[in-house]
Amino acid sequence: MNRSFLSVIAGGFGTDGSSTGSSEEETGEYREIKPEDVAEMLKGASSVVIAPGYGMAVAQAQYPVAEITSLLRKQGIDVRFGIHPVAGRLPGHMNVLLAEAKVPYDIVLEMDEINDDFADTDVVLVIGANDTVNPAASEDPTSPIAGMPVLEVWKARDVVVFKRSMNTGYAGVQNPLFFRENSSMCFGDAKATVEAILAALR
Ligand code: NDP
Repeated sequence: MNRSFLSVIAGGFGTDGSSTGSSEEETGEYREIKPEDVAEMLKGASSVVIAPGYGMAVAQAQYPVAEITSLLRKQGIDVRFGIHPVAGRLPGHMNVLLAEAKVPYDIVLEMDEINDDFADTDVVLVIGANDTVNPAASEDPTSPIAGMPVLEVWKARDVVVFKRSMNTGYAGVQNPLFFRENSSMCFGDAKATVEAILAALR
């Protein structure tokens, strides 16, 4: 684990009010998407990667996420999970939640195992993750989280981000992913929005 990871875990990034990449500095247009339209997007996909984070845990969204996974796989769609080493608030947090919800272990991959595959992925669902999918970490040397390895979700064809607002994550830094042309925001509590997608898929 490098220093950047430790600094973020220890709350050393963006928490002192210095360079936090606030929404005033880091704005732009963002696209909103409704759960029904996410369902349509998923129906047309061949490969899907789910990147979960702290918000999935807060919302307890792992159960409907596991149901969507099972439904899509039955339709022949390749669904896998990308797990960042510090996603959530405890080591192994996401793995425990997904195991609880009975997501098969063999489709739950670590960041290093999946990062090269995003460019060949149709749809990424970012469920309550923020810092762990922030492109500024790898692309902006002035970012407070520069150097932290992240899930390179922005390389996929389409990215849908599930969260309640445009608020920042744990490190307090804005996320340029939200303003990318291939990103859409699906606002609301993650459990409610994922359940709405599930209803539209059935
Ligand atoms: P983040 O903390 O960066 O982001 C969580 C996101 O979840 C927020 O953007 C928030 O947005 C959203 N969210 C919160 N509640 C809900 C909800 N009910 N429904 C939908 N979305 C919700 O999460 P990550 O997992 O990406 O990153 C973990 C962070 O925690 C890293 O900075 C890491 O270093 C740090 N950390 C990790 C530890 C570990 O051992 N894993 C230990 C200590 C810290 P909104 O408010 O808009 O909904």
